[in-house]
Amino acid sequence: MDFKLLPKIELHCHLDGSVRPQTVLDIAKEENVELPTYEMEQLRGLLEVPEDCTSLVEYLNRFNIPLTVMQSKSALRRITYELLEDAAAENVKYIEIRYAPVLHVNKGLTLEEVIESVLKGIKDGEADFEIKANLILSCLRHRGPESAMMVAEAGRRFLNKGVVAIDLCGAENEGFSKEYVEVISKAREYGYRVTIHAGETGYGSNVVDAINLLHAERIGHGVSIKDLKEAYDLVKEKGILLEMCPTSNIDTKIVKGYEDHPIYKFYKDGIKVSFNTDNRTVSNTNVTRECEEINEKVQISLEEYKNIYLDSVNASFASEQVKEELKKYI
Ligand SMILES: [Zn+2]
Repeated sequence: MDFKLLPKIELHCHLDGSVRPQTVLDIAKEENVELPTYEMEQLRGLLEVPEDCTSLVEYLNRFNIPLTVMQSKSALRRITYELLEDAAAENVKYIEIRYAPVLHVNKGLTLEEVIESVLKGIKDGEADFEIKANLILSCLRHRGPESAMMVAEAGRRFLNKGVVAIDLCGAENEGFSKEYVEVISKAREYGYRVTIHAGETGYGSNVVDAINLLHAERIGHGVSIKDLKEAYDLVKEKGILLEMCPTSNIDTKIVKGYEDHPIYKFYKDGIKVSFNTDNRTVSNTNVTRECEEINEKVQISLEEYKNIYLDSVNASFASEQVKEELKKYI
């Protein structure tokens, strides 16, 4: 099976983890941003996660350099456009891009400008490539609920104009959901859909909380439900889709290798899953590679691939009309 040729859906892709190394270099030169190196291969080495990375916290350090060149309207627009170009080139037909607007205000942009610039990049990309996209606004857990509320407010006027959902991300402590009940409930009132990073680094209970307290419709990662029956049963019973990112989980040492990744086992047991990159540059991957690596271990049939594709379409935050178009590809 040639995964590159098959249509694909990506529901979990961070913009700041998916910047082309060449673009980091270009923007740094244009905007006089200081980089630790201007030599391409060395730079690539600093943007990608090293093999000896030991944890999610260490993995997240790889975002420091790209963030320095993501502080202007034109840079955000270009980087988003290029992400759509890269995804379309491997036959991704629909992508939900996510990023944390609060990380892009260091040089004076407002949160609204940060959001608008990425939406412009999406429009440009949709016009030039055979791909559709929507935007998820991520809120950083370590910045607290007030910061998340600011993001929800800033994105409000873009709802259904490209912005579709809200997310919580970053390092994961046990029980984080309790603090965010009010904010996420308010965001849902405004019309945001909800996906939450949970159960990435060992706490299945966080998945239970994200579903029961925050009404998450999808879960980012959710690997840890394998060790907590209550979480596993809840995800399965409610038909919550897990946005799974195998390479990223290996990079952060959450699973040992592709053979240990639970994505296919979950699927076979009736849990809805989708294939995602998390971060194309940091994890040096794309959706094609994610499918290929897992397929090499378990041999996914075309029928199974189709089911995963359709589950991904159905769990996406796209409009009904776009969902119908996406279903025609397979
Ligand atoms: Zn993520």
